Amino acid sequence: MIVVISGPGGVGKGTAVARLVAADPRLRLSRSWTTRSPRPQESADHYVFTSRAEFEARIAVAGFLEWAEFQGELYGSPVPEAPDQGDDASDLVLEIDVQGAAQVQARFPEVLLLFIDAPSRETQRQRLVGRGDDPAAVERRLAIADREAAAGQVLGAQVVINDELDDTVAELLRRINAARRR
Ligand code: 5GP
Repeated sequence: MIVVISGPGGVGKGTAVARLVAADPRLRLSRSWTTRSPRPQESADHYVFTSRAEFEARIAVAGFLEWAEFQGELYGSPVPEAPDQGDDASDLVLEIDVQGAAQVQARFPEVLLLFIDAPSRETQRQRLVGRGDDPAAVERRLAIADREAAAGQVLGAQVVINDELDDTVAELLRRINAARRR
């Protein structure tokens, strides 16, 4: 199964996804490539940080399941390698933007689309400022959050509001287990 998790920046998506994947050994998190620079305090293995030339070379050899341009930077999910035999982690989790979600849904219509949002845009603003994004970037991200939510709705994504982290992770697991039973 493929699980796509989207949502605006600063809603706590990354933390929730990390906890989710740690909680269920069947889930395998895809590591994206990006041309943006690492943020202060961001771990070096969060993304494969790469140049635009290298990214474009990988597009040319069909090396991405999906890719998109977000705020002037390229982001993409590499085509996954088949899991090792006997590996339980058979469900792939992609934490990607709504443009990428649309591409994955077009290729794999049975994909589970989840959209994590903040309880309010003000909460989101505080989280963005708190993680060290510069003020102009914060305003840009807030401006596109509503558009992303609307795009998620068009795709039929299931919305999960991240208020309390434990509840959010439990809710994500519930939705994934429900999709597995279908
Ligand atoms: P950030 O710069 O905050 O890490 O990510 C910006 C946006 O790009 C977020 O919405 C994030 O989910 C999305 N993103 C991260 N990796 C990928 C990817 O591989 N593909 C796509 N389409 N979006 C991604």
